[in-house]
Amino acid sequence: MQRIGIGYDIHRLAEGRKLFIGGVEIPHIKGLLGHSDADVLLHAVCDALLGAIAEADIGELFPNTDPRYQDISSVELLREVSLLVKKKNFSVQNIDAVVILEEPRLSPFKGEMRSRIASVLGIKTDCVNVKAKTNEGLGEIGHKDAAASFAVAIVSDGG
Ligand code: MG
Repeated sequence: MQRIGIGYDIHRLAEGRKLFIGGVEIPHIKGLLGHSDADVLLHAVCDALLGAIAEADIGELFPNTDPRYQDISSVELLREVSLLVKKKNFSVQNIDAVVILEEPRLSPFKGEMRSRIASVLGIKTDCVNVKAKTNEGLGEIGHKDAAASFAVAIVSDGG
């Protein structure tokens, strides 16, 4: 049986933080603010997977009050989610995601993000897609104060 999940996340952009999106460090004057490295794309992907397997969301699994997750790479969170997917006997079929931020341009990094996510999940790179868009200057994202991401995941139990 196939199951689908959806994930969404948003984080503020702040100076003095490194910018991690899709497990890739991107040179920029601002980074995403959060308890972990605040990787908005990986958080959306985690929630999409957790949704597909009907598990608690990322905020419940990795509470931002838990010092274990302070400044943790979200790659580690995705790794834990991936283990949970396998434990429930599901395999990931594909991931599709959108990242919305005004700058910097993500196109040079999309390939690396896809292969990073795919390798953590143990699937082929062409089963992961990442799209990037701006918010056309509108709202907090448009004013370069935040970045958001949507993701969907399909998993299968092989039956
Ligand atoms: Mg988050």
